[in-house]
Amino acid sequence: MASSSSSSSYSNPPCAACKFLRRKCLSGCIFAPYFPPEEPTKFANVHKIFGASNVSKLLNEILPHQREDAVNSLAYEAEARLKDPVYGCVGAISVLQRQVLQLQKELDATNADLMRYTNNEISPYNPRRMGYGSGVGSYNPNPGYSVPYSYGENPGHGSN
Ligand SMILES: [Zn+2]
Repeated sequence: MASSSSSSSYSNPPCAACKFLRRKCLSGCIFAPYFPPEEPTKFANVHKIFGASNVSKLLNEILPHQREDAVNSLAYEAEARLKDPVYGCVGAISVLQRQVLQLQKELDATNADLMRYTNNEISPYNPRRMGYGSGVGSYNPNPGYSVPYSYGENPGHGSN
């Protein structure tokens, strides 16, 4: 850390990676576009989990337009791994998968309720249906997905 030359090279502050690693941030620095000095923890997390040299190797192996996405996913994974050393982002994924399953069950139950309700509405026990103009116009009691009879096969092949 010899601050011998208060140089006239760059007035730019070093990127977060170079600052963290205490080295000079040169103009072609691979980290600079993705680790701005305003986000020091982003690089610190990524470095702690993956290591700076692995990250620079990875960034050099992929196309420039993919690097930002790669860095963002590394940062996400690193943060998740620091919060949850055992499961990392897999923990978040499985929580969301469980949520999806639960919501799917709820949706199925609600659809079943809806079908039951719809069938009651058009059941022959409902006396209003007789004198109610056969319900034309107000709403369709027969939603498209449950149609057991209106189209498809015609069970009465009346020729006998
Ligand atoms: Zn740098």
